[in-house]
Amino acid sequence: MTLTQHTTGTSRKRNFAGEERGTPLAIWLENRKIQPKARQRIAGLIQRMNEMQQLVTELRSSFVNEAVDDEMEKVASKSGVERERVRADRVRAMMREWQGKKWPHSARADELHLQINRALAFYSGYVMQLDRFDEAGNGVFALTVHKPSKASEDELTALNVVLAFSAKGLLQHVRRCDFCRRWFYARIDAQVQCSERCRLRKYRSSEKALAKQRERQRELYHLHKNLVMRGGK
Ligand SMILES: [Zn+2]
Repeated sequence: MTLTQHTTGTSRKRNFAGEERGTPLAIWLENRKIQPKARQRIAGLIQRMNEMQQLVTELRSSFVNEAVDDEMEKVASKSGVERERVRADRVRAMMREWQGKKWPHSARADELHLQINRALAFYSGYVMQLDRFDEAGNGVFALTVHKPSKASEDELTALNVVLAFSAKGLLQHVRRCDFCRRWFYARIDAQVQCSERCRLRKYRSSEKALAKQRERQRELYHLHKNLVMRGGK
């Protein structure tokens, strides 16, 4: 299966946002027939972009929350309900103010920023219109490169999905299974395993780990008790 193959059809019952392009992208990332370097470039880009997204979101909310907390010190006389309402309003207003601003300083954010831009520089090229409709029935604009020998058409398609998903806030759904490490597209944000099979295997292994931990604690408890008793004599 290639990235450009679409999975639209009457057999599809439910349509999750981004799944039609996200799932082929995940399959492409696992496809052994594709040049490993090409897959590594795209996989590395996704991981860094997702880490960056999470990091800047956290930086922004902790910055906003601290600033609002400081402001709220001044309105200490208001009632609890009123305070909560004022606080929520201030947080919303500050989130809006954030548009176009540079994120608060963070060494990791600076490092990721540099790495992402370096990775993107590999694809230096131009934007052109393709001669086909996308799955939403729109005309398609896509990035292409001056030197096609550097990146295959498949890799460029993958890059276009990554960029489109990043703009739509869907890239975080392209992730690795926390049990088997394979790439997959998460239908919902809470999904961290690629399949029901991996979900069960993860559950069982964590149950086993928990049982082991409990056993260790019991052993330590008895050891401690014995030592205390001996010491008391
Ligand atoms: Zn899995």
